[in-house]
Amino acid sequence: MAATILQGKEVAQSIRAELANEVAELKKQGIVPGLTVVIVGDDPASHSYVRGKAKGCEEVGITSEIMMKDADITEEELLVIIQQLNENPNVNGILVQLPLPAHISEHAVIEAIAPEKDVDGFHPISIGNMVLGNDTMLPCTPHGIIELIKRTGTQMAGKHAVVIGRSNIVGKPVSLLLQQENATVTMCHSRTQHLEEYTQKADILVVATGRAHMIGKEHVKPGAVVIDVGVNRIETGKLVGDVKFDEVKEVASFITPVPGGVGPMTITMLLKNTVTAAKKQAKQ
Ligand code: NDP
Repeated sequence: MAATILQGKEVAQSIRAELANEVAELKKQGIVPGLTVVIVGDDPASHSYVRGKAKGCEEVGITSEIMMKDADITEEELLVIIQQLNENPNVNGILVQLPLPAHISEHAVIEAIAPEKDVDGFHPISIGNMVLGNDTMLPCTPHGIIELIKRTGTQMAGKHAVVIGRSNIVGKPVSLLLQQENATVTMCHSRTQHLEEYTQKADILVVATGRAHMIGKEHVKPGAVVIDVGVNRIETGKLVGDVKFDEVKEVASFITPVPGGVGPMTITMLLKNTVTAAKKQAKQ
């Protein structure tokens, strides 16, 4: 039987509706969640992501500001801006769109963001707290993936989850979160030998490599939940995932499409983090 398509777009829409209600309630108490996105340079993909984030904010009632800076801004100037945003009580969340131009240290910029405003969940303090299992801002894509899996009704506890990819923004954190959900987790990467021997044992398969169509039905255990994080533009101009959707959907139980799967969840988790940040800051 063909897999159920996990429409991240629809799940994201229902979470956004819940968030919109929550924001409306907060506004009655005088709390208006605010997000500032800083974007440096004119990379079209980055600008498109930032527009998506601003649109998401508008949808749920979060006040958003996009600060566009020229590519020749110095690291020092950018750090001053971050400091001002840290001190601005109307700004609950700060996001610096990556990548930054090569002359600016991403590490220095992320570390400069106040951890309580780190809605991307990339600050070392946020990551440390996530590793410790403390209440913290979770990185958006991994958090979105866990929410999507939960919505399938799949019990993660005791399942074998295989994650392909070990980046700091997807592979590593999602592995950790799956383990915190009591899955048994195997991490694979470009040096893994005989990849299919691992993937064929996966009840839950998360693929985050950025390699178009690298996973076919021969890699997938019948009935597996397949989460395709990859976003790849192929020669025809079409966006495709890391998974051969058409053939894998014939063996999986659930599969995310690209686009419309993980992507919409990522922005939604950013909105959720911003609302959480606003609530926490209002209490302080
Ligand atoms: P990175 O390039 O940082 O990491 C890719 C990972 O895949 C690396 O760990 C690499 O291994 C591994 N890898 C590469 N080739 C292979 C292979 N042939 N076999 C096994 N493992 C391999 O990418 P990101 O994690 O940042 O992103 C992954 C994909 O997800 C991209 O397509 C990106 O666009 C997309 N993405 C989508 C998001 C969304 O919201 N939908 C959000 C973030 C990313 P090694 O470490 O050994 O090099």
